[in-house]
Amino acid sequence: SQQIELASRPDGRPEPSNFRSRTVELSPIEDGQFLVKNLWMSVDPYMRGRMKAGDSYVQAFKIDEPLEGGCVGEIVQSRHPGFSEGKLVLGQLGWREYWKSDGEGVQVVDPELAPLQAYLGVLGMTGMTAWVGLNKIAKLKPNSTVFVSAASGAVGSVVCQLAKAKDCRVIGSAGKPEKMEWLKDKAGIDECINYKEVDDLSSELASLAPDGIDVYFDNVGGDHLEAAIDAMNDFGVCVECGMISTYNATEPQPAPRNLFKVIAKRIRMQGFIVRDHMDEKDEFASEMAPLIQDGKLLWEETVTEGLKNAPDAFIGLFEGSNLGKSLVRISAD
Ligand code: NDP
Repeated sequence: SQQIELASRPDGRPEPSNFRSRTVELSPIEDGQFLVKNLWMSVDPYMRGRMKAGDSYVQAFKIDEPLEGGCVGEIVQSRHPGFSEGKLVLGQLGWREYWKSDGEGVQVVDPELAPLQAYLGVLGMTGMTAWVGLNKIAKLKPNSTVFVSAASGAVGSVVCQLAKAKDCRVIGSAGKPEKMEWLKDKAGIDECINYKEVDDLSSELASLAPDGIDVYFDNVGGDHLEAAIDAMNDFGVCVECGMISTYNATEPQPAPRNLFKVIAKRIRMQGFIVRDHMDEKDEFASEMAPLIQDGKLLWEETVTEGLKNAPDAFIGLFEGSNLGKSLVRISAD
């Protein structure tokens, strides 16, 4: 089975040389186990944190060992009564062709309900992150003004559409013209900022939100968070989901320099980790399914072909190569 290992810890932006592909022999499955052939895997920004030495909120990846992450595959051999051959499953052992399991933490998925890879995106971790952040953390009220950074990505694109479905005014920021087009034409948001083309994010946001913003869904941190604090209305909320602009930093970053405004504006700033909300999964699924079926929630995928190219897909997250969910197709289904 081919697998991608961490060859060395990135210093700054990850490079192809930080990864290595190796083929290993798998021992036969034992009673109570099954073997999965991976079809799809996810690359996610949080994996950058796991590449650092020392555990962050998830355990650090080990050098010379395969990376891990969300994946969907087919059971090709089984000696487990609850997981029969042919079933499709969601697991956490991406970055490899095959994996063995005793079923712990593995979920059977229904390919009739949605395309398989959607369980890694809109119906999976990133969709749920958007939903938890808006509903459980921001406690979003209809008609609010919402600012979303990395707005065309896996999490951001769902945030934008869920906020629109609640009749909010949505301003999104992203880094490419085609992302602006998608956000306006497909996600239906009200205003877009190409942050790579503006000199001063704070004044740009102020001009697009003359009445201020009520919620900031933060995927980026840094200058985006600073601009959001400047534009925030009294008693507004900063939902701290991610800070991708800082993940490759080699020293602590200065922005936001205006944090003191949190006091005068009585801003609530709350971080969250989607993993803590797994008992709300059914509520999430029951709210998302009708939106998807009615065509009110669209999603994009950026697909990289072949396991050996997974490092490129991962590195691309930091270059903005993806529109919507970044996925790797390991094998055709
Ligand atoms: P995305 O699909 O949004 O991909 C990352 C995007 O971030 C890129 O496409 C790029 O788009 C943008 N980006 C990269 N570098 C920068 C930068 N320096 N400044 C501004 N934008 C940048 O990823 P996800 O949707 O999977 O994740 C979005 C955020 O949510 C991340 O911060 C992630 O860590 C966080 N997250 C948090 C979870 C939680 O439980 N708290 C769970 C899942 C994700 P562009 O072209 O716009 O620059």
